[in-house]
Parts: sequence; structure tokens; C-alpha cells
Amino acid sequence: WEQRFGRGGTGVLGRLHAAAARRERIGADDLHDVAEEVRRPVAALAGAAGYYADFAGAHGIRHVRVCVGTSCFVSAGDHTIPLAEAALAVEPGSTSADGSVSLAGAYCLGFCYASPAALDGHTPITGPELGDRLLSADHPVVPAIPYRVTSRRAVTLAGLTGAEESWQVWPQVVAGGSPAAIRAEVSIAGLRGRGGAEFPVAQKWEAARGAEPRFVVANGDEGDPGSFCDRLLLEGDPHRVLEGLALAGFAVGANRGVVFVRSEYPAAVGRMRAAVAAARAAGHLGTDVHGSSFDFDVEVVEGAGSYVTGEETALLHALQGFRGSVRPRPPYPTEYGLAGRPTSVNNVETLAAVPWVLRHGGAAYAQLGNPVETGTKLVCLSQRFRRPGVYEVEFGVPLRYIVETLGGGLKPGYTLRALQVGGPLGGFLSPDDLDIPLLAEVLAGAGVALGHGSLVAIDDRITARELLRHVWSFAAAESCGACTPCRVGTRRGMELATRFPTDSEQVLSQQEELFEVLSTGSLCAFGRGVPAAVRSLLRVYRDELLPGEH
Ligand code: SF4
Repeated sequence: WEQRFGRGGTGVLGRLHAAAARRERIGADDLHDVAEEVRRPVAALAGAAGYYADFAGAHGIRHVRVCVGTSCFVSAGDHTIPLAEAALAVEPGSTSADGSVSLAGAYCLGFCYASPAALDGHTPITGPELGDRLLSADHPVVPAIPYRVTSRRAVTLAGLTGAEESWQVWPQVVAGGSPAAIRAEVSIAGLRGRGGAEFPVAQKWEAARGAEPRFVVANGDEGDPGSFCDRLLLEGDPHRVLEGLALAGFAVGANRGVVFVRSEYPAAVGRMRAAVAAARAAGHLGTDVHGSSFDFDVEVVEGAGSYVTGEETALLHALQGFRGSVRPRPPYPTEYGLAGRPTSVNNVETLAAVPWVLRHGGAAYAQLGNPVETGTKLVCLSQRFRRPGVYEVEFGVPLRYIVETLGGGLKPGYTLRALQVGGPLGGFLSPDDLDIPLLAEVLAGAGVALGHGSLVAIDDRITARELLRHVWSFAAAESCGACTPCRVGTRRGMELATRFPTDSEQVLSQQEELFEVLSTGSLCAFGRGVPAAVRSLLRVYRDELLPGEH
């Protein structure tokens, strides 16, 4: 490992964070120092430093990140950045002349229930008076994420409601359980990955049982604009996530786990680190855990600002301090992951469900939800809803129940025009589609991807043209650049978006060609997902965007 990748392993991003905190920009001296320390070429460090938003942009003593995710876009249009720019007297992407303040946009900060939002250093600011609040040093306390369980059994949010304590299952499992039995129970449960890929969890764990050493990774890089349920779990119930990761480690036969948390969630980084320390002190982590012969320890790694690192191969690159770009699969991370070893990467919400499954049994879990998709899902409702927040629901409930009964419809004065499902690249539904059940397969049939389960209400004051530009801008800003169809195609898409509304045959055929290139030539689901998302938007807003066809 050291010969191939240099020293430093999972500590490279941390070293770059420390360098970035010391001065306005990471300089050549910093890169040489870190390169020397971790024994990598300076160019490798420069590649990473130039890739991540936290290192590539300028940082003043006071660094303000303003959310440009979909809920903030819906609640404040494109005005948040200009408001912040006026309040701070600094342009986005730059630092004031005296180095005291810098400003950057970010897709998304996870405060979609209280948009618009910004992070002033590590302090969140939300609400329509964002500009005024940035002028003041005293920021009002931001409301906590509202959440509610509506399933027959509280699975993932249970610890948050105080119904169950964490680390109930782990001591017995590690002392007397069998990894095969754990995998069998999770297989009976039918638990699938909640990050968007829906891959069966037990199957992934089985696949990661190649030659030792093996690793397990908790993916806390929740980047889909509109989604904030992982933030709720990481901040509100970090021990549940850790216990899930420990159980995954046992099932896989991995002695080391890593929790990767995006840097846009600074409170979550701190809570997870504190939880790891507390779990060590309580004997849940360490050597010969709970008198067994099993060692298991966990490290928390902070991300550095990149949407695509939510994809597992990109996440593994990021963990090892490289550019967070996607690589072709196979080999899958279960064969060739962290340090080239078998690695199971599971989403935070997935891991948070594992302790319940093992405590109550896979069959009990399988009774929840729908035969097609078992169990529960955390669904995030955005600020425009009358009752925004996180809801734990069973798979199969109609979207109408979530939108109207739980969310209470939209706030007074607003009318639902479209529903963004699973982030900008998940796609859009019309209010006529609300009888569709919350099932990934059925949603896919309707042209949208469930993704991480966020629902952003788009009201009728947002024009289709603005929304189309928002989707393409997001795609162009967050493309990791590893493949040309996506890197260049998303920029072509931004240009094409300016031609809408249109009934020009030429524009529409250029768009079709672009869709074809993105669908067939993109390396990962990000680029491949753009055409379907834009098509769904064109369907919902056909009257506004394609007047000739209406
Ligand atoms: Fe990166 Fe886009 Fe290619 Fe995915 S499709 S690898 S995000 S450039």
C-alpha cells in the first residue's frame, strides 16, 4: 500500500484541511510539506487540492458558504448569492482585499426544511432575512430538523425518539454471533441500500469477504440537494450509525471502519468523532471487543466539498486523499476498495437500520413496507411544505399521503407545480402523479429516481426556464470531470437551456443528440441520469417549455 500510494492513507484530506485553515489558499509550500509527509508526488497533492471546493477556492478568516441547492433556489430564486455578496462586500469565489472574509456557493447544506441557508464558518444561518443576518455577528439559533415516525415500527429514527438505546445488539453479536448468521438475517429482512442504488445489503457484504484485510465504510456524503436525513442521523443518533457500521464490520470480517462525512455538515463531523471516542471508552470499539477475539475500530474522515464523492469509487478516492473522481467498475469496491482491499461501502441510513433488523429479526423487518421493497425509508420534505422535515414511512405509501397528509400540502399562498424527487438528477413529477407509491421500481417506471428520498416542492412562482437552468447548472458544477461526455455535455446543456422555451426542431434535435451522448458515454449514474431528469422536467412543464407541442 505504502509503496503504491505513499504514506498518509486516510489522513491526506485532514492534512490538506489543516493547511487550508492556516492561510487564504493552499500554497506550493504546503503541498510540498504534505507530499513529503505522505511520500506522494507533489502533483498528486496538487490534483486533490485543485479538485475539492474546500481547497481550490479562496478562504478568508471568515468563510461563508451560501446554499444554492434546490430548496434554497425555490425559496429565494437565484438571489441568495447576490444578497450575500452585497452583505459581505465580496464576490463569490474570492476573498476580500484584507483577507477577512470569503464567499462561496454550495449545493446543498442540508437545511432544506428552513431555506434559504448559509454556513458562516460552522454556524448555520437560515431564513428569508439571510442578507441581514450575515451583517450581524449574532446569528439566531437555527431550528432543529423536525422529524416524525409514521411507520408501524420505528426503525431508523427509533433512537431519536428515545424508544430504543443504541449498542443493544452489538455486545451479544460480537461475543457469540456468527457473521454468516448476521448476513442471513439481513438477507431475510430484504434490506437494500438507501443511498439510491438499492443494492441488497447482505449480497454486498458477502461479496466483500475476499482476502483480508477488509474494510467497511459508512457513506455520509449526502449531497442530493433536498436531502438531509443523513445529517439528522449523523448529528442526532451517531451511535446508531456506528453500531450499524460495527455490525457490518463483523458480518464482512473487517477490523476497521471509516465514516466519511461531508464537510458541509461540520456539526455531524464533530458528533461522529465524539461518538467514536465515547464508543471506545465504553468498550464497543477496540481490541477483543466485549471479550471476543474480534478487533474493530473506526475513524471519521471529513470530506472536502464534492458532490460526486457520494459515488462509492469516488468516495474511496477521496478517503485516500486523491481527486474524488469516479473510476470504471468492475472491479467493484467489494473486490478492490480502500487500499486495494475488499471494502463494503454502505449509506448511513442503511447502516442505521441494521441494529433494528438484528434486534427484532429480519422477518419482522420484512413485514414492514411492501413485498417489492421491504422496510422503511426516511423521506425529506422541503421548506415550501406546510410541515417540512424528515418522516420515516413504509415503502409503498402513496406520494399523496406524504405530500398532503404528512407535509400538509404547501404553505399558504403557494400552489404545487412540480415535485423534485431524489435531487435535481432524480427528476420531476407533476401534481397529477401523486398516486404513485413510494417504490423505487415504480418511480423509475414514471421516469424518476428515488435517490436518497428527498421531495422538494416546486411552487407555481418558479418558471420552468429557471428550473431547467438550475438542473443543468447543478450538473455542470458537480460533474467530476472524469469523462468527457459528462464534463463537456453538461456545459453544452447549460447553453441549450438558454434556448428554451422553444419549438425549434434544430434545438430539440441537438438536445436529443446530447442526451444520447450522456446516456451512452457517461462513466457513472451522474451523467447517465441527466437526460431522464431533464426529460421528466420537459414532461411536467411541456406547456411552458415546448409551446409548439402544447
Ligand atoms: Fe464524473 Fe460525470 Fe463521468 Fe460520472 S458521468 S464519472 S460524474 S464526469
